[in-house]
Amino acid sequence: MINLKDCEFWFIVGSQDLYGDETLRQVADHAKIMTDEFNKSPYIPCAVVFKPTAKSPQGIRSLFEEANASPSCAGIITWMHTFSPSKMWIQGFSVNRKPLLHLHTQFNRDIPWAKIDMDFMNLNQSAHGDREHGYIHTRMRLARKVIAGFWQDNELRRKIGVWMRAASAKHEGMNKAVLRLGDNMREVAVTEGDKVEAQIKMGWQVNTWGIGDLADRYANISDSQAENLLNEYESLYEIAPGIKQDSVKRNTVLQQAKIEIALKQMLEVCNSGAFTTNFQDLHGLPQLPGLAAQRLMEQGYGFGAEGDWKQSMLTFCAKIMAQGLSGGVSFMEDYTYHFEPGNEAVLGAHMLEICPSIAQDRPRIEIHPLAIGGKDDPARLVFNAAAGSAVLATLVDLGNRFRMIVNEIETVKIENEMPRLPVARALWKPRPSLADSAEAWILCGGTHHSVYTSALTSDYFHDWAAMCGIEFVLIDKNTNVNRLQDELRWGETYWNQISYR
Ligand code: MN
Repeated sequence: MINLKDCEFWFIVGSQDLYGDETLRQVADHAKIMTDEFNKSPYIPCAVVFKPTAKSPQGIRSLFEEANASPSCAGIITWMHTFSPSKMWIQGFSVNRKPLLHLHTQFNRDIPWAKIDMDFMNLNQSAHGDREHGYIHTRMRLARKVIAGFWQDNELRRKIGVWMRAASAKHEGMNKAVLRLGDNMREVAVTEGDKVEAQIKMGWQVNTWGIGDLADRYANISDSQAENLLNEYESLYEIAPGIKQDSVKRNTVLQQAKIEIALKQMLEVCNSGAFTTNFQDLHGLPQLPGLAAQRLMEQGYGFGAEGDWKQSMLTFCAKIMAQGLSGGVSFMEDYTYHFEPGNEAVLGAHMLEICPSIAQDRPRIEIHPLAIGGKDDPARLVFNAAAGSAVLATLVDLGNRFRMIVNEIETVKIENEMPRLPVARALWKPRPSLADSAEAWILCGGTHHSVYTSALTSDYFHDWAAMCGIEFVLIDKNTNVNRLQDELRWGETYWNQISYR
């Protein structure tokens, strides 16, 4: 997986020649100090790169052209220390292809009451210079993020960090493919979608390989390779009693180890960050990839079941955004409801494929029948998700656009044993309530599949959706279902205007 520190964000500070050399020197000095401080901040996960002060149309355009051509530049941060006439920026913005953050701050925190004079005012002009700058973004209808506040404030830096992580996920998505093993599950609508539009909007290459390609690799994985991986499993997870002693059961786990090795080889060869499987198409494999899919998610790969490539790539993007943060990211499915009055909750799980990064305790490898698909009993990791706040995010294709839906939830401790449901699972209380959240989600057309993350908040997905130019709908504690329905109607008009220009 990409290292976030390898993602560069170019800090371009605007000014103009009018002020003279001394003022321009101070502008550059301040920008350099800010760059260095940002790079030391634990809230800033990526590299901030100091760039020459922008003060002419030609110079600005060159900077943006250079940024476009740079494979490591994941976004641009602009700030107007002084006034920088915005007509100078039009050519640069016209060619810009990188996500843009307009940082609205000033170098000094306090007004120097006793010393303030006209020299100070000539140098420290962001309060009005950034308004001129913001106008041209709005006038040009440019997608951008605006973050305002004092640059040393940690909350401001946290917001920059959120945006950077989203931009890094967007950046890395441009380089990666989703490896689809087989097609979507037959007759299912919500997992379908426009793969060409996904590549245009989000950069994802969504391509298909036959399951036979994986089966061939699987057949060539040696027993000793699988035994080595089994040793790793034993160091990381509990193994259910009886598996190690029973040669058939032990072999079941070894088969998943071989699938994991073969699939990882294929992901690397195909430069893929994410993959999908389909239990209807497992020719040549002894089991549905259960443990193997869980393990690969834990290593940073996105996963989608039943051919759900949209949630697979979104899982991958969320894993990039969550890098180094506490909490995990997993593919998820709404499984069943608990309607006890006052204690309503959703049980989320999947047949097998939930990522152990969200586990409360050490996961346990177990083997049980699947009751679907007609293959051997698959090995899987069984665990409960850790309690705490989390979000669910999903992507659907509405025919003329993608819509992202995010629901803020509170995951709770599972108090009851479920000995006859041996799968990894999470139990949560969605905001604003189970009924309202489900009504809202269904009115949005949200799928039963989603990305579950305890590491991220809705802000990350909001920023990422904005960069991709796709619709974003939030369901949170303030959601009113009737009002949301109105917003969706208004949005329909807006998106019909701008889709397929
Ligand atoms: Mn499913």
